[in-house]
Amino acid sequence: MSDAILVFNAGSSSIKFSVFVADDDTLRLFLDGQIEELFSAPVFTVTGADGRRLAHTAWPQGHPLAHREAVCFVMDYLTQQLGSVRLIGVGHRVVHGGLQFAHPVRVDAAIAAQLAQYVPLAPLHQPHNLAPIHDLLERWPDLPQVACFDTAFHRTNADLEQMFGLPQPMFAQGLRRYGFHGLSYEYIAGVLPRFSARAAAGRTLVLHLGNGASICALRGGCSVATTMGFTAVDGLLMGTRSGSLDPGLVLHLMEQHGMDVRAVQQLLYSESGLLGVSGLSSDMRTLLASDAPRARLAVDLFCYRIRREIGALAAVLGGLDAIVFTAGIGANSPVIRARVLQDAAWLGVDCDAEANAAGGPVISSATSLVDVLSIPTDEEQMIARHTRALVRAVCSQPKEPAAAGPQTTT
Ligand code: ADP
Repeated sequence: MSDAILVFNAGSSSIKFSVFVADDDTLRLFLDGQIEELFSAPVFTVTGADGRRLAHTAWPQGHPLAHREAVCFVMDYLTQQLGSVRLIGVGHRVVHGGLQFAHPVRVDAAIAAQLAQYVPLAPLHQPHNLAPIHDLLERWPDLPQVACFDTAFHRTNADLEQMFGLPQPMFAQGLRRYGFHGLSYEYIAGVLPRFSARAAAGRTLVLHLGNGASICALRGGCSVATTMGFTAVDGLLMGTRSGSLDPGLVLHLMEQHGMDVRAVQQLLYSESGLLGVSGLSSDMRTLLASDAPRARLAVDLFCYRIRREIGALAAVLGGLDAIVFTAGIGANSPVIRARVLQDAAWLGVDCDAEANAAGGPVISSATSLVDVLSIPTDEEQMIARHTRALVRAVCSQPKEPAAAGPQTTT
């Protein structure tokens, strides 16, 4: 009988899941799926590792399917489908681990309560990430669960990098730069030695360019700085998020435009970015295919913001050995990669046009002073690995009362 790990990535209106089968030391994707459009017109789809559609269920418009029912639906489906495959643990993507959780943690009711304390730090994501954890604790209390955090990878950042210019006591209260996309960066840092020893050991910028977008500066595979800060709205221009802006602008919007907190939140998270600038779409493929001047402007601003942040982060690192592109845009768009690399030519970056068009992984020319790579990320695989490691660690320990503090994995 094979062992399997289930990975949940629960958002506000969708729950994504993947099942990995543990063959010896590898984790092989078995299937993945999602329930989208919760609360409106839910659709459940499952795809096998070979790309074959395994299941499709659509509920009528207005069906009130919520997270709880969706989790039960997925679990019931998997119970039927997994056959002789034994589920040994469930890993969850959790956006915020605060200062306390610098590593994944096995979740029980007490840890779940601690994670709920971070809801005010990530009100749009944390409650949804935690919902399946609570559901499973209630219905399958013996099934081991592990929380993996988007913030954890950046806990290596120096205090100076994490600080805002606010009164010092606020720093200790948690008003600081946390950084996000940590599971993606951790995955990339883990595979870099396969592609470039220099990128793995040296000063490397990883550009995670998807609907959410950020850059992480790595030194020797550890996070030194990143463009997202207290929240995931900071830094680069994104699909619908504004990225960095002057905090005084928020005050102006509230004072002069009569906007309340909810209205500003809606503007900055859902109506800005590529969508807001283009007035057309948040989807990079649509914008690249369009001749509309505002679509071009949105792409220009996207690339310009990357150019600025590359300069800033190269300064933080004191030079640059490698650039790595990943996520939907980064790993799939030769056009955007070429533009970003052209803008970084002053750093000695030279792109091999043919290799870039072919998708890499190495896309720098032989004469480039900086290694450039394009590597797909795999956050689910990272979560599955952490989950398996923690489940195994606990299983191999003699039975004793549950520890109060977080458990860590290496
Ligand atoms: P998320 O942050 O939601 O995980 P993804 O990493 O899947 O997002 O990235 C989605 C983005 O990637 C979209 O803007 C999409 O247009 C873009 N994208 C995917 N494939 C391509 C491509 N071939 N060329 C340009 N953009 C692409």
